[in-house]
Amino acid sequence: MKDIVYKCRVCGKPGFAEYEEGFTGDIDTWQSMLTHDRCYDFRDAKQEILRRIDSIIIWRNKVAVNEAQLERARLALVDATKDYCAVVCKFNRKPAQWEPWLVEGILKKPENTKTILWGFERLITR
Ligand SMILES: [Zn+2]
Repeated sequence: MKDIVYKCRVCGKPGFAEYEEGFTGDIDTWQSMLTHDRCYDFRDAKQEILRRIDSIIIWRNKVAVNEAQLERARLALVDATKDYCAVVCKFNRKPAQWEPWLVEGILKKPENTKTILWGFERLITR
């Protein structure tokens, strides 16, 4: 086994990996794709919630026609953003926190969902 130091694609901090002596693949490419296990899980969990938010928005825009349905979509967004915040806070080892402006922002500009959530992440990591 050979040791290799890589820069995690998610957090940018160094990590250590091993590979077989006889590895014939492109080590540089492989090395550039590596992430820490917890960073991989973190990114994966966030992507899943982002997909959930996307489908809530689609349902809201295409299906919801009355007040009750719009409210149902809003509550689903509250749940999804709370889950997102929980994932971000846990990863950063911070106490659980959630911001109502996330839902307001996403409802106002659904196309900016990623940026809005990223804003929360910056707040937490600051
Ligand atoms: Zn990492």
